[in-house]
Amino acid sequence: MSKEKLFQRWQVLCSELERAHVRLLAVSKYAPDEAVRCLMNAGQTDFGESRPQSLRDRALRFPGVHWHMIGPLQKNKAKYIGRYAFKWHSVEDIETAKAVAAHVRDRKLPVMIQVNVAEMPHQHGTDMARVSVLLDQLMDIPALQVHGLMCMAPKDGDARACFRALRHLRDRLAGGSLRRDRNAGELKLCMGMSGDYRVAIEEGSNMVRLGSALFG
Ligand SMILES: *Cc1c(COP(=O)(O)O)cnc(C)c1O
Repeated sequence: MSKEKLFQRWQVLCSELERAHVRLLAVSKYAPDEAVRCLMNAGQTDFGESRPQSLRDRALRFPGVHWHMIGPLQKNKAKYIGRYAFKWHSVEDIETAKAVAAHVRDRKLPVMIQVNVAEMPHQHGTDMARVSVLLDQLMDIPALQVHGLMCMAPKDGDARACFRALRHLRDRLAGGSLRRDRNAGELKLCMGMSGDYRVAIEEGSNMVRLGSALFG
């Protein structure tokens, strides 16, 4: 795609998202460096990568913007996330979270819990019933700061039902133990991809993750 076309797509999406007060995470995992540079120069500040090494490489190459980790993570790659991620959206279990926390220096790393809302056996994320326990455990780790919940809609399933279920879970959690917590702000929702982001926005998303809608 030409730079002009990319810039134009970005502008159109930004104005749509701005009207809805939703933030854009530009998922650059399949995009070349020139495309990243183009959007960076245009003013895009948040980019998402799904592989830890790619995130590190791009964070080193483009230190002026924020690099968000959105993919599955194994413990042996924890240092890339602890050191280079601006935010980690795909926390699934406490052991990996502790491994990442051990590499965080002089800051708190914002994290989101990825929830397997549809409870699909091969999907990533924590089961709905386990989110509350994981949330409590994460809040005991000083190097991490829980910012919210993330999900992916099932490929052939009901995206709206999935997003709505995540919002309801967030509302229940916010009304419960969180209120008593030291400094836990409002829990945000990161949901919606290129094929379903408008539905996600209608269901209360705060940040959408767009790859193909942006980069083609
Ligand atoms: C790749 C990816 C996206 C972006 O997907 P598109 O359909 O290209 O917008 C969003 N979220 C996650 C977790 C991804 O891995």
